[in-house]
Amino acid sequence: MAITIKNEHEIALMRESGRLLALVHEEMRKELKEGMTTKDIDRICETMIRDFGCIPNFLNYQGFPASVCVSINDEVVHGIPSNRKLKNGDIVSIDIGANYKGYHGDSAWSYAVGNIDDDKKYLMEHTKKALFEGIKEVKPGNHVGDIGYAVEKYANAHHLGIVRELVGHGVGNNVHEDPDVPNYGNRHTGPILKEGMVIAIEPMLNLGSKDVALLDDDWTVVTKDGKPSCHYENTVLVTKDGYEILT
Ligand code: MG
Ligand code: MG
Repeated sequence: MAITIKNEHEIALMRESGRLLALVHEEMRKELKEGMTTKDIDRICETMIRDFGCIPNFLNYQGFPASVCVSINDEVVHGIPSNRKLKNGDIVSIDIGANYKGYHGDSAWSYAVGNIDDDKKYLMEHTKKALFEGIKEVKPGNHVGDIGYAVEKYANAHHLGIVRELVGHGVGNNVHEDPDVPNYGNRHTGPILKEGMVIAIEPMLNLGSKDVALLDDDWTVVTKDGKPSCHYENTVLVTKDGYEILT
């Protein structure tokens, strides 16, 4: 599939799905607390998404059974909401997607429940910074590999494991489009960024090794060594001279 360039009308719709996702994350930052179940999170997010006139695009995506992915501690991504309760000291990533009039947004953010230990604080701080190191590379003429290079360099400097099996991606009429946007790479390699492209950049970094495994539910990705993992994601538009974060 070719990489799509969005026109002004399409970008306006993607700004709306992105704005909604930012609002949902703002709400989760306030609402998230010990004792809440991951299904509670799913319900709050789904209600907000639908009230805004969007469709939760992860629901039924390749059979995914909920509206958002909620991944705790050693769960990297794609955790299925359940009756599991959040505990003091957990870190929780919530990955949310919304489709507004046919145009998608995709955004994940990680949250601390109560008081977390210093290792988890370190992981959260530097995963978020790695995301913005990647975003800084977004401008016309740069390559997708420049983004991966920046994320990888930052993660390596902070001794964090980079998950390789899952990558960022283009976003548009589909939540996952070309190009792949890996969290590793070499400068001046991969597709060239052009004004009007929209991509999701989403480092998934581990406190321990980079190795991950898939649970028996066929969705939840966990770290092999059981150490915590963290995930931040923004959907980003390539503008005339740089970028605009849509989410
Ligand atoms: Mg996502
Ligand atoms: Mg994504």
